[in-house]
Amino acid sequence: MVTKTPEERGDRGLQKTRSDAPSSWGLGDGAAIPWEYAPAPEARDIVTIKERYGLFIGGKDVAASDGKTFATVNPATEEPLAEVARATAADMDRAVKAARSAFRRSWGSLSGRERAKYLFRIARILQERSREFAVLESMDSGKPIKESRDVDVPLAASHFWYYAGWADKLDYAFPGRVAKPLGVAGQIIPWNFPLLMLAWKIAPALAAGNTVVLKPASTTPLSALLFADVCRQADLPPGVVNIVPGPGEIGMALVTHPGVDKVAFTGSTEIGRKIFEGVAGTDKGLTLELGGKAANIVFDDAPLDQAVEGIVNGIYFNQGEVCCAGSRLLAQESIVEPLIEKLKDRLSTIRVGDPLDKNTDVGAINSKNQLEKITELVAAGRAEGAEMYQPACDLPERGYFFRPTLFTNVAQSHRIAREEIFGPVLSVLTFRTPEEAVEKANNTPYGLSAGIWTDKGSRILHMVKRMKAGVVWANTFNRFDPTSPFGGYKESGFGREGGMHGLHAYVRLEDR
Ligand code: NDP
Repeated sequence: MVTKTPEERGDRGLQKTRSDAPSSWGLGDGAAIPWEYAPAPEARDIVTIKERYGLFIGGKDVAASDGKTFATVNPATEEPLAEVARATAADMDRAVKAARSAFRRSWGSLSGRERAKYLFRIARILQERSREFAVLESMDSGKPIKESRDVDVPLAASHFWYYAGWADKLDYAFPGRVAKPLGVAGQIIPWNFPLLMLAWKIAPALAAGNTVVLKPASTTPLSALLFADVCRQADLPPGVVNIVPGPGEIGMALVTHPGVDKVAFTGSTEIGRKIFEGVAGTDKGLTLELGGKAANIVFDDAPLDQAVEGIVNGIYFNQGEVCCAGSRLLAQESIVEPLIEKLKDRLSTIRVGDPLDKNTDVGAINSKNQLEKITELVAAGRAEGAEMYQPACDLPERGYFFRPTLFTNVAQSHRIAREEIFGPVLSVLTFRTPEEAVEKANNTPYGLSAGIWTDKGSRILHMVKRMKAGVVWANTFNRFDPTSPFGGYKESGFGREGGMHGLHAYVRLEDR
């Protein structure tokens, strides 16, 4: 580890000094902080990473039709983890045919009760193998182990538990109607929550009686391929789930394949638009969960210390690589100064580094490309006149790391206030009245999520009604639950995932 001190603080060597300590600690200037966390690395040997992975089609591990592979890299070390088969359009065709055949021969006509048994089995295996999944996910994606261990993997399992419960109760979910599966679902997922997004997509699809072809993101294919092993272990009939890693174009081959009945996508608004065009003129169902630029609004009657925790969780959770991240802090003018001071104090205690260390709060950025995008937008923020604050903290020498960053003096016109950065970068704006807060919160092409911090329930209800956001958290942020629908407005996409709403996207409702 070496110290790369932010330029405005100058280089002070390896050890943090008292002046780096939050002022609230009352240590004064000069000597070293008396304690530091000892390394607490999670053991890696729980997971066996193979040298090569194939595509998972029809229950078998198969090579790409042209034999090509690509490397997936550990973003914390820049070292390759494994070679993964790189699907071609012919492979995608093979996968869709396998899914169609499984739908016709077994899954589509299986009773809900029998489908539920498989889903329960998958949920249980995910829980039994949770450490293996957590370590693999952190190695492949860069996210801190405490998040993959405590958030991603348990939530992924709970999505399977939850939808297992619905599989034999579709008559109750849609009273008076008959819910029929659509057929083959083509699903494309991003790299920020690889296993969790897989669960969000696969669990409701299977519960409703569909079969699946899923394309994981190229930087994070490994947890999906380990999930293929779970499908085998659960004795899921071959072809019910097919996992097909490959480049973006292969995603489009899935979207436009005539054998696909339903498309579900999570990712950037730019690719979401292309997918929308790809399904236009067909009768395929479509769910798009795209980007966001959420406002986290703090009123002057909010408990500030709790709000600070919510702000930190809102933007630095998963390195800020979260579609619903609270990337715009809207602070009421009368409390902006104490709030920023508390926030800066809190930032100086955030630990950035090895994702496999149990004390790490902010891990590695997922890829070199994403790091470059964050760096470029942060430079734009400075060039446009916003004031940047970064805590002094050690960054590992190798790997894609970025310091937690806070911008004040931000104008609504600045790129950092308008564009999705998808990194640990918070832009602070201010407001005087609730009306101004609503106007600023809604002043974005996105509409995925928002947060409100206030002591008054009536104010929460007043704000919620006026904000164009699919999810509004009150006095908390970034809370997810399989029973609760999630999705956006405007350029954040359409359709809902989670809860009963999530089932709706995978069924055709007929009259009794
Ligand atoms: P993308 O939207 O490109 O990637 C998401 C998924 O779509 C990946 O599986 C990707 O495959 C696939 N894909 C890429 N191109 C196509 C295509 N033409 N047709 C079908 N599927 C395609 O996101 P990026 O990884 O490029 O990230 C760029 C920005 O997008 C981020 O900086 C962030 O702002 C935003 N983003 C938002 C997410 C969200 O949850 N809303 C998630 C990820 C990113 P492959 O990996 O092989 O390219």
